[in-house]
Amino acid sequence: MSHIIVIGAGQAGSSLTAKLRNSGFDGDITLIGAEAVPPYQRPPLSKAYLLGDMEKERLFLRPEKFYDDQNITLRLGAPVTKIDPAAKTVSLAGETLSYDQLALTTGSNPRHLPASIGGALNGVHVVRSLDDVDAMGADMAPGKRALIVGGGYIGLEAAAVASKMGLEVTVIEMADRILQRVAAPETSGYFRKLHEAHGVDVREGIGLDRLLGETHVSGARLTDGSQMDVDLVIVGVGITPGDALAANAGLTINNGIETDAHGRTSDPNIWAAGDCASFPWQGGRIRLESVQNAIDQAELVAENIMGAGKDYVPMPWFWSDQYDVKLQIAGLNTGYDKIAVRHTDDAVSYWYYKGDILLAVDAMNDPRNFMIAKRLIAAGKSPSADAVADPDTDMKALLK
Ligand SMILES: Cc1cc2nc3c(=O)[nH]c(=O)nc-3n(C[C@H](O)[C@H](O)[C@H](O)COP(=O)(O)OP(=O)(O)OC[C@H]3O[C@@H](n4cnc5c(N)ncnc54)[C@H](O)[C@@H]3O)c2cc1C
Repeated sequence: MSHIIVIGAGQAGSSLTAKLRNSGFDGDITLIGAEAVPPYQRPPLSKAYLLGDMEKERLFLRPEKFYDDQNITLRLGAPVTKIDPAAKTVSLAGETLSYDQLALTTGSNPRHLPASIGGALNGVHVVRSLDDVDAMGADMAPGKRALIVGGGYIGLEAAAVASKMGLEVTVIEMADRILQRVAAPETSGYFRKLHEAHGVDVREGIGLDRLLGETHVSGARLTDGSQMDVDLVIVGVGITPGDALAANAGLTINNGIETDAHGRTSDPNIWAAGDCASFPWQGGRIRLESVQNAIDQAELVAENIMGAGKDYVPMPWFWSDQYDVKLQIAGLNTGYDKIAVRHTDDAVSYWYYKGDILLAVDAMNDPRNFMIAKRLIAAGKSPSADAVADPDTDMKALLK
């Protein structure tokens, strides 16, 4: 096993290559990225970086020197166009490289609005890459009218930044409530109120009919028939897994690149990790879009390439920053049927149960209960919903 190629120089790709060296792999490693910059963290793109509170240099996960020192060849600005699994080669920029083992960490792609409804007009932005956010930031100025299409975490974070910067902000969400896909009505209600308190116009159950304008967006017509003037549009309508390269190479696709519990794809010499990969979970299959998953799964794949034979057991956690609220999420709430609410001073947390089983927790400005919940979920412990909601319960004692 002398040459390992990793396609996708992002969160997972960076972790995977670092872990390979850390696990004692002494062959060649090539990390190939489509973007022109070294691997960077995306979460600040819709938070501190967009707000101007974070320097670009601090986004990079590791200094470029790290890759040199670790003898990891970085090929940047070089999208891979083809994988030939039979020949064990990848093609990029008129060149073909051979691998012994290949890992795909190709992330995901933002959904765009169709050009037929104005999605290609100037002033319409998606939020995925540093380039996207630099272009968006350049368009944002106090007093401008921003329309945010999609009330998920990314749309809401962008709305919070835009509002803080003094823009007039409207959020439209096609579903009945913001965050419907990912959170309980309690969490949606909390964030709706928070945004409204900051002057954001949150319109739920309303979609976009079309954007208006000749070359630059100047307005929007909504599905309730109303029309509004806008100066810029931020599109946060979800992502699709970056699985096209894998699909063209004949790998099995199933909500992203299908892997087994070890992170191996349908080709024995090809592995996948991060946003692009789905893996077995609780009798089904799941794909996660988070930093925790990208790092943990990538490190596991590195160990398994080295022969560890370990199964991936995700310990999901996620966060979101909006105004002065830090939301921290532990666990996965899929299938919940009950919510317990815990108030602690100014903080609140929503605990998701399926029957008597604790699945997940959304904690708002409540790091203490987030940590307790994370440890409880990891240990498979489920305090009763009544105990959690009782303000007299000593939460730490629940861990014993
Ligand atoms: C604005 C924003 C905010 C977020 N906030 C949070 C948060 O608060 N908390 C959280 O946990 N997660 C957050 N996420 C999600 C998190 O950043 C992702 O889950 C994580 O980056 C996934 O890592 P990855 O390595 O799978 O993909 P990425 O980091 O996206 O890296 C994939 C890389 O592969 C490259 N690539 C794709 N195809 C090719 C090809 N053919 N050839 C070469 N290179 C290729 C891409 O250009 C990209 O650079 C956020 C994401 C965004 C966009």
